[in-house]
Amino acid sequence: MLRSLTQVVGRVVRSGLAEVRLIKHAPVTSVVICKNMSSAKFGLSKKLIGTEKNIWVEFGKLATECKALNLGQGFPDFKPPEHVLEALETCARSGNFSLSQYTRSYGHPRLVNALAKVNSPLIGREIDPMTQVLVSVGAYGALFCTIQGLLNPGDEVIIIEPFFDCYEPMVRVAGGTPRFVALRPKSSGESSSSGDFTLDPKELESQFNEKTKLIILNTPNNPLGKVFLREELEMVAALCKKYDVVCVADEVYEWMTYPGHKHIKIASLPGMWERTLTIGSAGKTFSATGWKLGWTVGPEHLMSTVMTMHVNCNYTCPTILQEAVAIGFEKELSRLDSPDCYFRALPAELLPKRDMLAKTLKELGMTPIIPEGGYFIMTDVSKFSAPDDGSGDPKDFQFVRWMTREKKLAAIPPSAFYSKEHKFMAEKYIRFCFIKEDSTLKKAAKILQEWKASL
Ligand code: PMP
Ligand code: GLN
Repeated sequence: MLRSLTQVVGRVVRSGLAEVRLIKHAPVTSVVICKNMSSAKFGLSKKLIGTEKNIWVEFGKLATECKALNLGQGFPDFKPPEHVLEALETCARSGNFSLSQYTRSYGHPRLVNALAKVNSPLIGREIDPMTQVLVSVGAYGALFCTIQGLLNPGDEVIIIEPFFDCYEPMVRVAGGTPRFVALRPKSSGESSSSGDFTLDPKELESQFNEKTKLIILNTPNNPLGKVFLREELEMVAALCKKYDVVCVADEVYEWMTYPGHKHIKIASLPGMWERTLTIGSAGKTFSATGWKLGWTVGPEHLMSTVMTMHVNCNYTCPTILQEAVAIGFEKELSRLDSPDCYFRALPAELLPKRDMLAKTLKELGMTPIIPEGGYFIMTDVSKFSAPDDGSGDPKDFQFVRWMTREKKLAAIPPSAFYSKEHKFMAEKYIRFCFIKEDSTLKKAAKILQEWKASL
């Protein structure tokens, strides 16, 4: 439907009921205005103006259209663990009708119980599954309900750059004002590890004031792969306490850290449980991004706000998926110390993939920033060039578009993870995703090697 509308954009066409005019709302072409309807009245809601562009929509579409090898959007090109798939299959075939009906609004009991069991030792306190855990539609849903549930117009939110791109529109739509603080490379020289990127404590503190309500912290970070150190978390925690601020800890890559780096939950630091909402994702945890189940864990007084938003916008999440994910967690809980535990097996599988891609990039004269966690790698591509496409967009956007079209290799432009003022910081980089089969990574290496040889 959308495609056929797009094809006739700008033209006046006759449908069965009325004459309609299709107008273009860059980049989404889907607004249909009837003859007697005013476009001013039925245009995009004012609160959404400025949020129309979305990198996942643009670069996902481009990769598909160009039939490019896709190292862009973060999703595995392999199956979730067998036991999780089996659980879903068993649930579907069980004949238990209730698994196909609504479940408890705030989270399927079996899943919230499992999440409480997994998180209690990591946070260092007994978590109540009924009042301190909420299941939502992906980590996106968790972030949305958290931000909407807590913000009032005029509230300020500190966002650490680079940041997962949806934070900024979510804050703005809720009437909040984002204040950005960038992780900066330690030296002015070339950086080779995500750990070289740090926050300047003075710069960070300068953004706190009496209007600050939230700080959003993403560790391990997407797109950089930085895993925040205990000292860094302590610094953020001290400021949260000093200025009475809540920390939204986006920890969707919590299980994906590489040797020498340990993920620490900021909620486990002294005095932080009371002021932290921790967000996770089954999509990331079990390599099943299309299942779109996420969660928030936190103290009752904050959770009640997030739950109120959730119950009013989604009410509940798919029962059968929650049951399957719960069974997945139960299995991992029974083998937490075994190398077979998926929380250990997945990063072990990812490590050689990270290293393989980093080696290729280095051999080609690029400078990758080796990630300490997550499954993305940022690489400096200054030695390669792409023609200016006249769009006026940041160079990395133009570079990735050109590379996708001409070299049939898709990536993500990381300036999308920076505020308008700071986009220049990422223009010389592109982001690759390495949670892919080795054969996919080898194909990518071949494309890059041939490109280099042709220069
Ligand atoms: N936060 C970060 C840092 C992410 O990379 C993503 C992407 N998956 C999300 C949140 C959203 O996760 P989900 O797919 O579970 O909605
Ligand atoms: N989190 C994933 C990434 O960073 C995908 C996000 C999305 O598709 N919206 O690639």
